[in-house]
Amino acid sequence: MKTITVLGSTGSIGTQALEVASKHNIKVKALAAHSNASLLAQQAIEFDVQYVCIYQSDKVNNLKELLQGREIEILSGMKGLKSIAALDGVDIMLNSVVGMVGLEPTLTAIEQGTDIALANKETLVTGGELVIKAAEKNGVKIFPVDSEHSAIFQCLQGNKREQVRKIILTASGGPFYGKKKSQLENVTVADALNHPNWSMGNKITIDSATLMNKGLEFIEAMHLFGVKPEQIEIVIHRESVLHSAVEYNDCSVIAQLGVPDMKIPIQYALLYPERVECPVRLLSLTDYGTLTFARPDYETFDCLRACIKAITLGGTLPAVVNGANEAAVESFLSGKIGFLDIGKLVEGALENHQRKDVNELDDVLSADASARKYVYNEIERMKK
Ligand code: NDP
Ligand code: MG
Repeated sequence: MKTITVLGSTGSIGTQALEVASKHNIKVKALAAHSNASLLAQQAIEFDVQYVCIYQSDKVNNLKELLQGREIEILSGMKGLKSIAALDGVDIMLNSVVGMVGLEPTLTAIEQGTDIALANKETLVTGGELVIKAAEKNGVKIFPVDSEHSAIFQCLQGNKREQVRKIILTASGGPFYGKKKSQLENVTVADALNHPNWSMGNKITIDSATLMNKGLEFIEAMHLFGVKPEQIEIVIHRESVLHSAVEYNDCSVIAQLGVPDMKIPIQYALLYPERVECPVRLLSLTDYGTLTFARPDYETFDCLRACIKAITLGGTLPAVVNGANEAAVESFLSGKIGFLDIGKLVEGALENHQRKDVNELDDVLSADASARKYVYNEIERMKK
């Protein structure tokens, strides 16, 4: 029986992961969330966990009341997340928090020798070099949860990494596929949250609308699979059935297909290498009839372009585009800026930043902080 911990258990990925855990008798030792104390308490009781962490300290009392009389240790803040990451006797820590806040606990779990199931792509985007180096040093495995990266990971099984020619990273294109900038000026939050194929948390749904998500995934793929930017081709595939593919030196292309349901990659990451029953719809290719493929529009989608530029130049720049995007998306969701401002702010932060090599965590944290500061200052300036 496997034992896991789940950071971000109350979110879209976290709740689906707990369904997988329940179906396959996976033991859950600890859970963490940001502020949703009531769902966190409910999950803690259902899974009989030993530890819970609520990031926001002002929710601790609320959580204490909800868990009164139970032997569950309550933690909070980054310290709490890191304590959970440092627990022993855990086979896999699922990191499904949103944002680069997931980086430090991931590094802690790796130092502890705990394998990682990684949904939180911002971790690899910002601190990829540190994470991969630490994982190699500590003999820790990273199982991708992101559907495209799970697909690539599956296509690599039984093959030699050095014989990979190229990765084909598919993208749904999001709700604004085919639109030009002039048609995106008045996009509302509700329009941007209306994803055609996937139901996900708000931040990643906005990232899918700007194509930032594909840019983040491009960087994530480079770190996970050790490929260069020129070895990744992004292909728009509206149906989200072919989740990504790998082209080998012999011109064979191996792809992974399935219905768009995150339970498949979550289960594969948690139960690897087992392939057992998963409670999702079966894929019927004849129901789809046609699968379509197209090139992305780099002119319209600034964030995608910015991510590729950032990782090509490397160092602290990926942390800058990520930090700027996190701040810009939060501001868009709260009605402070328009949809197209997200791309402008991400590109602006990138142009404004003096690139540095990443040697330690502080290099990443300070690049992130300066990008957020740039975005908030620009938003203040835009108001005037
Ligand atoms: P959600 O917004 O649905 O959930 C985020 C989760 O993280 C919640 O449990 C939230 O708690 C928790 N959280 C946020 N901040 C903190 C913090 N500081 N400390 C502890 N917990 C925190 O996001 P998703 O599940 O959609 O996405 C999670 C990650 O997975 C993202 O990185 C995303 O890009 C990636 N991903 C998601 C996919 C999807 O289908 N949803 C697909 C592929 C990747 P609370 O509920 O209290 O706010
Ligand atoms: Mg994805």
